[in-house]
Parts: sequence; structure tokens; C-alpha cells
Amino acid sequence: MIRVTAFKDRTVAVFGLGASGLATVRALEAGGARVAAWDDSEAGRKTAADGGATLVDLSSADWSAFAALVLAPGVPLTHPEPPWTVSKAKAAGVEVVGDVELFFRERAATSPQAPVVAITGTNGKSTTTALVAHILRSFGNDVQLGGNIGRAVLTLEPPAMDRIHVLELSSFQIDLAPGAEPTVAVLLNVTPDHIDRHGTIEHYAEVKSRLISSAEEMAVIGIDDEWGARFATALERRGNPKVRRISVHTPVAPGIYAQDAKLYENGSARADLAGIATLRGVHNWQNAAAAIAAVEALPETFHAGGDLQAALRSFPGLAHRLEVVGRIGAVDFINDSKATNADSTEKALASFPGHIYWILGGKPKAGGITTLTAYFPRIAKAYLIGEATEEFATTLGENVAFERCGTLDVATRSAAADALSAGQAGSVVLLSPACASYDQFRNFEIRGDAFKRLVADLAAEQAGR
Ligand code: ADP
Repeated sequence: MIRVTAFKDRTVAVFGLGASGLATVRALEAGGARVAAWDDSEAGRKTAADGGATLVDLSSADWSAFAALVLAPGVPLTHPEPPWTVSKAKAAGVEVVGDVELFFRERAATSPQAPVVAITGTNGKSTTTALVAHILRSFGNDVQLGGNIGRAVLTLEPPAMDRIHVLELSSFQIDLAPGAEPTVAVLLNVTPDHIDRHGTIEHYAEVKSRLISSAEEMAVIGIDDEWGARFATALERRGNPKVRRISVHTPVAPGIYAQDAKLYENGSARADLAGIATLRGVHNWQNAAAAIAAVEALPETFHAGGDLQAALRSFPGLAHRLEVVGRIGAVDFINDSKATNADSTEKALASFPGHIYWILGGKPKAGGITTLTAYFPRIAKAYLIGEATEEFATTLGENVAFERCGTLDVATRSAAADALSAGQAGSVVLLSPACASYDQFRNFEIRGDAFKRLVADLAAEQAGR
């Protein structure tokens, strides 16, 4: 755990008592602060009180007594409107920050040169963060991985010169961390998302750009969208931090460029992603290129002599993202349950050239799967589940053979039977729903885990035959 000493002997309000909020309470108290903890939910308050936190009803508290309000990252800061705690803080002149800000203040106070890699972007954050951590670990480094992925940042070991913190940061976390000055910052991409939270794409992009423009050494920037391209040019003009560009479309310098599963720098091949199932698809080439650029932006002691190709090959990947969960005969079973919208599913469909037995559906998003028609020729057959069934049946129409399956177990069995009897090399049964899971599963992880169990059962049945 990191002790946060910045508020020693002062009182801090903490609002939102989930995992990161509770970690914040402990980190502040360990650093000598008094904490007034509160949550709108009774359950949240009870967990916190059971853990020893001091509850103070912030709706009736004397805000002049607080040195800061620490807001959990799940609480919207500005849109559609500020939460009541923020309005009260603003009225009392109390600063509003998040746990990531506390991390950076503690680093500034105790080990300001300690290496930190911070990663943001609309898509690919978790994969890139996990890959950066994996490469650095396989080179023998002490790596602390957290933030928006895995552990809350204040539960990690403290910053130190011989230890690298690799942090995934959402735009919400960046918004609450004005003092975040990572050694290396990565901005993968900017596409319209979470606009409900940030108001406009301009504001959303501006929040993301703050992280790269405050990097101490290097900004690694995906320049395949207009925002990244613009930010890269602006930072280069400014002269600091240094900039490395990433592209999967055009050669870039200085930076890394991906083509046909190979990564190039200054015209020479740097790494080969062909055959690495956990880095399949053009989107993962972007993630891998950014991860390599970020690792190499750190001081040499952390990466000199490391076998990069071996590190990439051994990347275990993340669950629920194009995760290979089984193979029966010539058929691979792929769990892409994290794909809760058409954009994500597009990445999956683009990753397989054909013979796709596609399981999709759930609670549909606006627009459905109308943007995916270009990939329909790759689909051997589609298996529809959940609320989206009739809408998706209409979109698939005459162009794709499909079956109304209702539930995931029916769909999985049916897709497996069809793929096995067709017996085509390179066939995949792909769960990439392009929908939220809420109509049938509590979240995408539970949906993906259910698919994994179904595939394991099918494999056992096949083996028993
Ligand atoms: P995040 O943490 O930003 O949500 P993940 O690494 O968890 O990103 O990937 C989530 C989904 O986003 C993946 O299943 C894939 O569909 C898509 N994705 C991953 N990387 C990229 C990328 N670089 N560009 C566009 N989409 C991506």
C-alpha cells in the first residue's frame, strides 16, 4: 500500500466507497490524514464502516473543514451535471481530485524520478497496459500494474527508482489528476465514446491530451485518428516531451509502424506478431507498437538486452478479448465477450478471414450491427441470442445464414455442431456479441465465463466419444 502523506494532519472527504475509494481511505489514514468517508449507497457505507472507516454524512457536513474531496473514478465529474459533492466542494473552495492524483503527489514527495508509464485512449488501454507490464516483467523488472485495470493505484507498492509503475488511466481518472506527470505517456486513439460523461468530443479529447502533454520524457501517440495526429504535431512544435508516433496505416518517424503483422521502425523490422494469437488483429498491432515504444522510452537499464520477440510471444492476453478458450477438431473457440458494441465486434470480425460461426446478441446498442455489413461475407452462419434477436435478424436479412437461438448455450452447441460438420480449416466459433450482456448476464465477464464453461463441456463430450 502507498501511504499518502500530502494531507497529514488535515481532513479529507472521500466520496464513493468502492474498491478504489476504500483503498484511498486507508492510504490517507496511513499517511496521517483524517478521513470523512461517504457513499450514496447504504451497502457502500456499511462495507466502509465494517472496514474501520469513519463515516461522515457529507450532505450536512461543514465543508470548510476539508482540505480536499477525493472522488471515486465512477462518479461523473461534470456531465450531465456535477454530483452534489462536487457542487458543495466547489462552493467551499475545496479541491476535487482522484486517487491517481494522490499517487502522483506521493511520488513527487518521495521519489520524483521513479519511472511511471501511463496509458490512455478510447480502446486498447487494458491490452496495452498489460502488455507493457508483461514485457517489462519478462525483462526482469519489478513492475506494479494498476489503475483502471486490476488493482486500485494506492494499493500498489510505493514508487521507487528501481520499480516501474504501469498505469491504465481512463479519461475520468485523468480529469481528476491534474498533477499526473508520468515518465512516459501513451495515447492510443481517440474516438467518440463516453461523450455522455464529457459533453463533447473536443472536451473528451482535450482531457486525454493532458496526459501526453504532461509526460516528463516521452509521449507515445497513435496518429491514425485526427486527434492523435494533431496532438503529436503540437507537442513536436512545443519541443517537449519527445514524441514517438504509432501507426497501422502509414510509415512514421520517429515511431513504430505496423503492416501485415510486422512492426517497423525507420524501415527496419522490429517485431513479428504473425502467429501470436493474443495479439491478433490490426487493433492489436497498434497496441503492440505502442507498448514497445513505451518500454523503450524508459531508461536503458529497464530494457537493454531484453528479448522482445520472446516477450511478445509469451503474452498471455486478457480474458474476454479475442481469447482462445478451446479447440475441438479444426475449430477454435474465441471468447470476445468484452465486445459490447459494433466497433469492438468489428475488430474481431476483421481478425479472421472467413469461416466465422458468429454468436451475437444481448441488449443492443443504438445502431445495432448495421456498420458491420462489409464483414458479412466472412460469416459462415450467425447465432442470435437475447433481446437483439429480431433487430439483428433484420440486419442480417438475406445476406447471412442465421438461426434464432435464444440463449448462449443453445447458440454455442449449434455453432459448434455446424463448424465441426463443415470441417473447414481455420474455422472459428466466435462469441463477439456487439451488445451489452444485461438482458441475460450480470456483466460481460460472466457471459464470457459461461461461454468458456460451455466450450469445456463440449470438448469433454467430444473427447468421450
Ligand atoms: P479498453 O481497456 O480501452 O477498454 P481493451 O484492451 O480492454 O481496451 O480492449 C477492449 C476492446 O476494444 C477489444 O475487445 C477490442 O474490440 C477493442 N480494441 C482493443 N484495442 C484496440 C485498438 N487499439 N483500437 C481499437 N479498438 C481496440
